[in-house]
Amino acid sequence: MLHTIAAFDRIGEENAFAVLARATALAAQGRDIINLGIGQPDFRTPEHIVEAGVKALRDGHHGYTAAVGILPLREAVAADLHKRFKVTVSPDEVMIMPGGKPTMFMSILMFGEPGADILYPDPGFPIYRSMIEYTGARPVPVPIREENGFAFSADETLSLITPKTRLLIVNSPANPTGGVTGKREVDKLVAGLEKFPDVAVMSDEIYDHMVYDGETHVCLLSYPSIRDRLILLNGWSKTYAMTGWRLGYAVWPGKLYDMARKLGVNLHSCVNAPTQYAGLAALTGPQDAVHKMVAEFDKRRKVVVEGLNRLPGISCATPKGAFYAFPNVKRTGWKAKALASTLLEDTGVAVIGGPDFGVLGEGYLRLSYANSTENIVKALDRMSQFLKSRKAA
Ligand code: PMP
Repeated sequence: MLHTIAAFDRIGEENAFAVLARATALAAQGRDIINLGIGQPDFRTPEHIVEAGVKALRDGHHGYTAAVGILPLREAVAADLHKRFKVTVSPDEVMIMPGGKPTMFMSILMFGEPGADILYPDPGFPIYRSMIEYTGARPVPVPIREENGFAFSADETLSLITPKTRLLIVNSPANPTGGVTGKREVDKLVAGLEKFPDVAVMSDEIYDHMVYDGETHVCLLSYPSIRDRLILLNGWSKTYAMTGWRLGYAVWPGKLYDMARKLGVNLHSCVNAPTQYAGLAALTGPQDAVHKMVAEFDKRRKVVVEGLNRLPGISCATPKGAFYAFPNVKRTGWKAKALASTLLEDTGVAVIGGPDFGVLGEGYLRLSYANSTENIVKALDRMSQFLKSRKAA
C-alpha cells in the first residue's frame, strides 16, 4: 500500500546530495575541497535567461499558471523537439514539470504496484530504483556493462521482460556512466518492444545535448510504434545550467497526460511562473551558450579520462555523453564506496562510489567533470598521490 510507513521505509536517497553536504561541511571547516561529486553544470545560467525570469516577475507573472504549464512554453518545447529530432509533438502532449525528477516519480507511480515488474538501468540514476521500491513493484535491473561501452543492450533488456513487466526505464546519455546507446541498438530495442505492447517506456533524455565524438542523440519519440506508450523525460537543468530553477518537461501519451495533470494539480499546482518564462527564453533565444558549455565539457572529458588512465590501478573508458566519467577502480584493491569516502576525508576530492547507482556499480567511481580543468587536474594529482601512498583499506 502506498500510504504505509513501511512504504516510506523503502524510499532510497541520492547519495550525491549526502556527499555534497559532507563536502560543504568540510569546506566550512576550512578544508580545500574539489567537488567532482554532484552532477550539475558549474556554469551560470546564461544572462538572457536570468533576465527573462526577472522580467517576468517585474511584468507581474507571479501567479499560478495552468497546471500543465503556460502554452507558449509548451509550444516552444514542441518546436524544439521538432527542430532537433524532426518529431511531431503537440503542445497538448507536453507538460511542464518542476524539474526532471517529478516525471520519473509520476510515471513510476502510475505503473508501479505489488506484482508488477519495472525494468531500470543498473548502474543508473538511484531515484528510479527508490521509487520502484516505494510503489511495491519489483525492481528488475537491466545491466549496463563497461564492455558494452556502457550502452544498454537491446537483447538483454528484452530478455528481462515478463508478463508482469509494466514499465521499462531507459537513459541515454546516461548517468552515472556517460554511456550513449547508438541508433542500431535503439532500433533493435524498439523492434523487440513491438512484441510487448503492454510495456510502457520512460525515456530519460535529460542529457540529450551532451554527446561527443560525433555521436548523435536518438530521441525515442522518433519511433511511431511505441509513441502511444512512451513517456519522455527532459528538462532545462543540465542543458541550460538551471538545476536550481526546477524546470523540466514530460511528453505524455494518451490518457497518461490527464493522469499526470491531475497528479500535478494535487502535488505542485504548477511550476513557478517566472521560471517558466526563463525556460521560454532558453528555448527560443540564442543557443551559443549551450554549444560553448558542451564544447568545454568535451575538453574536460579528455583531460579527466587521460588523467584517470594514468592513475595506478584505474582504467577509464571514454564516455560518449553527459558530464560523467565512470572509471574502473577494481585493480586498486579498494571497495568503491570506501575509496570515495576516504578520498574525500583524506584528500578533499569529492567523488561518488559506483554502488550508489546500483549493485553493478561496485568497482567504479563516478566523477562529474562539471568543474574547471584546473580543479580537475588538481583532483587527479591528489588522487594519484593518494593511490601511490595508501594501501587499500
Ligand atoms: N535524470 C537523470 C539521469 C539525472 O542525472 C538527473 C539529475 N541528476 C535528473 C534526471 C533530474 O533532473 P532535475 O534536477 O531536473 O530533477
